[in-house]
Amino acid sequence: MITASLSLALSQRAMQTKESQIREASRYCEKFGAINLAQGLPDFPTPQALKDAAREAIAADLNQYADSWGWVKLREAIAEKMQRDNQIVVDPETEITVCCGATEGLNVALMSLIDPGDRVLIFEPFYENYIPNLVTVGGIPEFIRLQPPQWEVTAEMLEPIFKKGIKAVIINSPANPTGKVWTRIELELIAKLCQQYDVYAITDEIYEYIVYEGEHISLMSIEGMRDRTIVVNGFSKTFCITGWRLGYTIATPEISAAMRRIHDFITISAPAPLQHAALTAMHFGREYFTNMALDYKRKRDILFPALAEMGLSPVLPKGAYYIWTDSSIIAKDANSAAFRLAKEALVAAVPGTCFSHPDREKVNALRFCFAKKDSTIEAAVENLRRLKF
Ligand code: PLP
Repeated sequence: MITASLSLALSQRAMQTKESQIREASRYCEKFGAINLAQGLPDFPTPQALKDAAREAIAADLNQYADSWGWVKLREAIAEKMQRDNQIVVDPETEITVCCGATEGLNVALMSLIDPGDRVLIFEPFYENYIPNLVTVGGIPEFIRLQPPQWEVTAEMLEPIFKKGIKAVIINSPANPTGKVWTRIELELIAKLCQQYDVYAITDEIYEYIVYEGEHISLMSIEGMRDRTIVVNGFSKTFCITGWRLGYTIATPEISAAMRRIHDFITISAPAPLQHAALTAMHFGREYFTNMALDYKRKRDILFPALAEMGLSPVLPKGAYYIWTDSSIIAKDANSAAFRLAKEALVAAVPGTCFSHPDREKVNALRFCFAKKDSTIEAAVENLRRLKF
């Protein structure tokens, strides 16, 4: 029987939100039994100390709701890290909010700043989530398309868009999918324009410790940006715990209070036992971070030459763990190229269209993830070499 409610329309925001092409690529990867170089999830183990700490926290019955703003000891450790690694002094009491992944952090940041119709600048190719996250709050994306291999940002590109009027800009450094690491000159340029035109910045710094060339600079540390920046960060990538869903935001007490109100009603708190375990991660020594970046560099250097040899013109990433390539020799468009690669070479990658302006069907590119065991990457390289175009 058809009920009256079935004829009711769903919300515009639900209808405008498309399924993730990254997760879709993972699904057909499974169907073909292909090697998954699509989704950014490591196939190697999480550090043992973290697994032990999580087990201990659950056994100790730390299983109920946590403090909504985040376990205080974890917030204090984040404040220490911010001062040590980012040269930013933060009050853990009022300026740090622990949430369910950088994903939630980004959403509450946008919900706190953006009203329907507000314009938000993003740099293309961008992390896939930014568009659906903007759709949810009714924000209108303004795009600046960057060009490989440097993905450089200049005053000439920025000024017209700032002049036109934007409420916020999202900076992702190191960036997914390009591996761009924003330079101090570029960040100072953004900082100058944000102040001149009274614009907020949201910085997605989830890959901050995965840098091969250049250095990670937090925009919030640049003069004049302390009060108009929301830092979004998390534990997923640095500590190989993408499934734990732990992230955090940093902003002034006023902005944090707004984000905390929203966060509280969306998720109440991030997982309590895992916050306790994450404190262990915050005390890993410098060596952990150095070795992690070296490990990823080695993985990059296994995959990159193979992609170059295949004629995919890969762009060498300076950070994060993805390689952006051309795919026009594989098929006439990115979706067909990704599908062909998964079906015939048994290697899944993500079509570049999902990191691009919705009208840019012509983007014929693929993103390969190398957060995988060396043996997985080597097996993928072998498969790729067998495919003849
Ligand atoms: N931001 C970027 C740029 C990412 O690439 C990802 C995951 O791939 C996220 C945020 C999601 O982070 P989290 O797992 O903390 O939600």
